[in-house]
Amino acid sequence: MMITPLHRFRDIERTPEYLQPEKCVPPPSRASLGTMWFIRDGCGIACAVVTWMLVFYADFVVLLVMLVPSRDYVYSVINGTLFNTLAFLALASHFRAMLTDPGAVPKGNATKEFIESLQLKPGQVVYKCPKCCSIKPDRAHHCSVCKRCIRKMDHHCPWVNNCVGENNQKYFVLFTMYIALISLHALIMVGFHFLYCFEEDWTKCSSFSPPTTVILLILLCFEALLFLIFTSVMFGTQVHSICTDETGIERLKNQKPTWEKISGWEGMKLAFGGALSLGWFNPFSNLNCQSPAPAEAVAAAPASEIMTQEEIEQFLARDVAIQMLHE
Ligand SMILES: [Zn+2]
Ligand SMILES: [Zn+2]
Repeated sequence: MMITPLHRFRDIERTPEYLQPEKCVPPPSRASLGTMWFIRDGCGIACAVVTWMLVFYADFVVLLVMLVPSRDYVYSVINGTLFNTLAFLALASHFRAMLTDPGAVPKGNATKEFIESLQLKPGQVVYKCPKCCSIKPDRAHHCSVCKRCIRKMDHHCPWVNNCVGENNQKYFVLFTMYIALISLHALIMVGFHFLYCFEEDWTKCSSFSPPTTVILLILLCFEALLFLIFTSVMFGTQVHSICTDETGIERLKNQKPTWEKISGWEGMKLAFGGALSLGWFNPFSNLNCQSPAPAEAVAAAPASEIMTQEEIEQFLARDVAIQMLHE
């Protein structure tokens, strides 16, 4: 058998059943492809709801504690509009990241007919996922939460209740960016509020009692600081992954690239759906230059989040290779 770097991280399973493509059920019918992508994972759904609640809490404090009682009308309108626009874009990006198919490989496509249609050269190896019975393209990984193989999977993010992969990375990057921006904006406003209100009478500065106001503002500060740090790090890691054309999993595995690396700018264009434009920052614009992704296609657009060594080992254990002897 040829030993290529591709094999280094994948167990070669020799169990005969994996060498029998007939064991796989045929791919799902076309009708099921049109349904909305949504992961039914209790933990992920709870995390996503918590995310929205935290944004709504921040919006409540910013509007009702700081801006509405303020006597500076222009300051309130400008900051209120800016904060709500950014918060809306953050939530829209969250919905797009959650409800977009991250690049799932068709389930059960490891059929005899499909493998034959790939017209493999003698000695060429294809990888079959024993969990979802699909032929894994290069750089795809099986996600145990989504129960699917995901092209260019970066990580599974419970906060967006979805995998971050080839097709939804843009929305995930925008989500981290807009959350970091509203966190920073909220911190600046809290800073100004404290500065002005210490000089004034506190009762005129907020419609709530001074202790309630202080508690609400401190909680907002804590939330904003935590999320500013977390989402800025995440945003930086994602952009770095896109520019270096290496997903979080590949970086953690320290995998030697078996794919042809694209330049940083090309990676950004691929991940964000075209040349630099306002569309890059718009969570409603679709990606229009993604590869059509046939089974063996090398997909495009990487990224990362924290993942333990055990989780990587779990990934690796699921990667089962079968060698197709086409003589
Ligand atoms: Zn799989
Ligand atoms: Zn997943």
